[in-house]
Amino acid sequence: MTRLLLIGPPGAGKGTQAERLSEAFAVPAISTGDIFRFNVKNNTELGVKVKAFIDAGAYVPDSLTNEIVSDRLKQADAVAGFLLDGYPRTADQVQELDRLLEADGTALDAVVLIVADTEEVVARLLKRAAEQGRADDTADVIRHRLSVYEEQTAPLIDLYGSRGLVVTVDGLGAVDEVTGRILAALAARGLNATEEAASTT
Ligand code: AMP
Repeated sequence: MTRLLLIGPPGAGKGTQAERLSEAFAVPAISTGDIFRFNVKNNTELGVKVKAFIDAGAYVPDSLTNEIVSDRLKQADAVAGFLLDGYPRTADQVQELDRLLEADGTALDAVVLIVADTEEVVARLLKRAAEQGRADDTADVIRHRLSVYEEQTAPLIDLYGSRGLVVTVDGLGAVDEVTGRILAALAARGLNATEEAASTT
């Protein structure tokens, strides 16, 4: 089974690609952003704790984020493989994930980096704001999210790069095209989608 991470700036199309890849590799897509948004929407204890961070475009504290991922990865459907979308985003989260995988005697197969230039991602996020009305998709918050990404998450690319895990894919273009690029890049590393999914893509 396959264990993948998806990294890229906000607006690079991670969520959309995560759904596709989850199907192709028959593994659950786990998005910390989606988990947080679900909790905010339902006004849970976690939701109340994280709402202000998300609305401001700041990262949720590592302790909270690590805890939800640790719980989620223990669930039955994630034991044999997973696709993490939007986690880890900080050096502390990388350490936690390393620890969790090591405890299970498993390891990551690849880190998919979706690259997209800043103007393009800002335009996409503003479009999404108009369509979906996400509170963290306003121009100011978007700018802040991009700078937090550059500061805290971009350095992880070198870290995973030094482990030989990074597969870089251009996120520009139609959704299908980008999915095709990712599947081809992973196949080149010997990571093949399940046959059923591959035949429909
Ligand atoms: P996303 O949908 O992945 O863009 O995440 C939306 C928001 O949720 C982010 O801007 C953060 O506020 C929060 N978030 C999601 N994942 C993480 C993470 N791994 N670490 C800290 N905050 C996160």
